[in-house]
Amino acid sequence: MRFCPKCGHQVNMEIPEGDNRERAVCPNCAFIDYDNPRMITGTIPMYEGKILLCRRNIEPRFGYWTLPAGFMENAETTLQGALRETLEESGSEVIAKQPFSMISIPHVNQVHLYFLAELAQADFHPTSESSEVALFALDEIPWDEIAFSSVTKTLEYFIADHKAGHYGFHEDSIIVNSQPQ
Ligand code: ZN
Repeated sequence: MRFCPKCGHQVNMEIPEGDNRERAVCPNCAFIDYDNPRMITGTIPMYEGKILLCRRNIEPRFGYWTLPAGFMENAETTLQGALRETLEESGSEVIAKQPFSMISIPHVNQVHLYFLAELAQADFHPTSESSEVALFALDEIPWDEIAFSSVTKTLEYFIADHKAGHYGFHEDSIIVNSQPQ
């Protein structure tokens, strides 16, 4: 941020009084930009032992498969966001079962939260965000074509829990010692 969103004055990078890290601070109106991580929320849609995946029709990772998920919006809960993203990306209305994985990704300032969910019926279709939407048996997951490592981790936890016969909650992180792409 170069200019204050409140008054348009040029901002300075400085540590506000009582704070411990640099923020964009407006010297004119004292606005402080607290730039914090963003939440991505989505679902693991299940149907008759299979998982619904979406082939991305948008960048990043165009053409790769993902679980339906996206940036949470203001004024919604994590669950509402997950259900909205699932509908937007896969055309399916799902019934949420439980929170399943929460993965921090510090190098891109994101937290990814996935809920287990069930499709009431095999009702889904391609969307503007997904060129293809399909159910995959657990031994048919296209591991080499998964869009994001948080999705890979979540699917690995899901398969392990499925084999164990009990679905837990998995808090994890992806640590990459490099700059965001
Ligand atoms: Zn200002």
